[in-house]
Amino acid sequence: MTSLTASHAADLVAALLFILSLAGLSQHRTSRAGIVYGIAGMVLALVATVVVAAQSITAGAVALIVLAMALGAAIGLWRARRVEMTQMPELIAVLHSFVGLAAVLVGWNSYLEVEAHGTAQTRIGADLLGIHHAEVFVGIFIGAVTFTGSIVAFLKLSARIKSRPLMLPGKNALNLGALGAFVALTVWFTISPNLPLMIAVTALALALGWHLVASIGGGDMPVVVSMLNSYSGWAAAAAGFLLDNNLLIVTGALVGSSGAYLSYIMCKAMNRSFISVIAGGFGIEAPTGRGEEQGEHREVRAAEAAEALAQARSVIITPGYGMAVAQAQHPVAELTRQLRERGVEVRFGVHPVAGRLPGHMNVLLAEAKVPYDIVLEMDEINDDFADTSIVLVIGANDTVNPAATEDPASPIAGMPVLRVWEAEQVIVFKRSMASGYAGVQNPLFFRENSSMLFGDAKQSVEEILRALSTNGSHGAAPVARQATVAGR
Ligand code: NDP
Repeated sequence: MTSLTASHAADLVAALLFILSLAGLSQHRTSRAGIVYGIAGMVLALVATVVVAAQSITAGAVALIVLAMALGAAIGLWRARRVEMTQMPELIAVLHSFVGLAAVLVGWNSYLEVEAHGTAQTRIGADLLGIHHAEVFVGIFIGAVTFTGSIVAFLKLSARIKSRPLMLPGKNALNLGALGAFVALTVWFTISPNLPLMIAVTALALALGWHLVASIGGGDMPVVVSMLNSYSGWAAAAAGFLLDNNLLIVTGALVGSSGAYLSYIMCKAMNRSFISVIAGGFGIEAPTGRGEEQGEHREVRAAEAAEALAQARSVIITPGYGMAVAQAQHPVAELTRQLRERGVEVRFGVHPVAGRLPGHMNVLLAEAKVPYDIVLEMDEINDDFADTSIVLVIGANDTVNPAATEDPASPIAGMPVLRVWEAEQVIVFKRSMASGYAGVQNPLFFRENSSMLFGDAKQSVEEILRALSTNGSHGAAPVARQATVAGR
């Protein structure tokens, strides 16, 4: 077998391993196997690519490639071992930005190798040159949009910039105008390729990527992350065409289409328009009503909460990002165990985008050994709040915000939320009156049946456990306080 046929066979096996990987990752039970298939496919793809490349480049160049791969692998392993689960989405966003940047560099390199040299000196036939010109432009465009879009997503997810949507005047016209300009530039470049057009399309796509993601509000960030995942796949596929690498085309298409489908499913679950989100919040108006006086909130102490819990008939716990930050899942699991021993019915209500990545809360609760059968999805538990004595909102905010169902002007209007306010009593565990990730104030905190238990969620739950163990019953009534909106 020649090395080329062997490399084609390796490509085919690697592509099959990637498909098996995606299939495995679609279910908890098979997800570990899915990861192993993915690693095996990637190792095979890398080895095959380097072996083929080694036949046409110098030994020094091969050594450089191996060195770059070893360095990249070492940095990747180091980051993966250190990353906190709450930082996963921002890490994913950074990785997407690398794919976008790589596609831009491949596009520029391809231009410098082919178009910049003039048609006569290239290995590409004259009839295929027009297609090559278009490939260069499409690759750079998708790559640059992915690059800056992912950087903005990283900055928003790591709270380095505000998660609120950027609302430039005429933002929809800006996006559509940029798209129109890209088509016009591509036609121009196909007819007459030149450096100023390359610079123009790169700058245009970088600006568009930045604007598209900056215009999307915090509540829609889960969809944005999966959408950028899809873009990074298409960017890789475009690079595959330029590098004449079939495996990169197949892999890019797999990532692109699965990411697009995931974005579609998430949009449906979040009652969002898919087109609106991928078009940078197309049609979404500037949010209103921030900074208004919301009324009074009540405070409750841990001992009082413990007393109420000990007397409750049924309790639902709705965890959110704050539980993950505080690493409160273990004391929460212990509280669940103790309450159940006392005969209290305890269940969990998990919102699909609670935390910072899909399934975040389920993983934390499983880690703390909370029984699966009492952890319910939003749709399974939403009708039961009205018949519940106490809801403990532990570090959740946007996912329990009644404004989503009651205020059509809210930036999160229409997003399905856990209807915790229908319970007899709601206790909200958080450190301050600050808004949630979407930057929207939460009227729940000012409801008659709500009280705030201020402090770090882990410490608060541990205090409740201590109070329960001494059977503490200090029956002071919740303290009412005047509160104004405290944004982020
Ligand atoms: P939010 O991010 O809306 O709110 C979390 C709350 O936790 C904050 O209000 C904060 O209040 C509180 N908190 C933070 N640290 C602590 C602590 N140590 N102890 C107690 N409380 C704490 O959380 P939700 O889970 O309700 O909503 C998730 C949001 O993230 C949604 O808007 C979602 O769209 C978005 N998102 C989700 C992704 C996903 O895939 N799941 C990905 C990207 C974004 P305070 O500061 O006052 O303590």
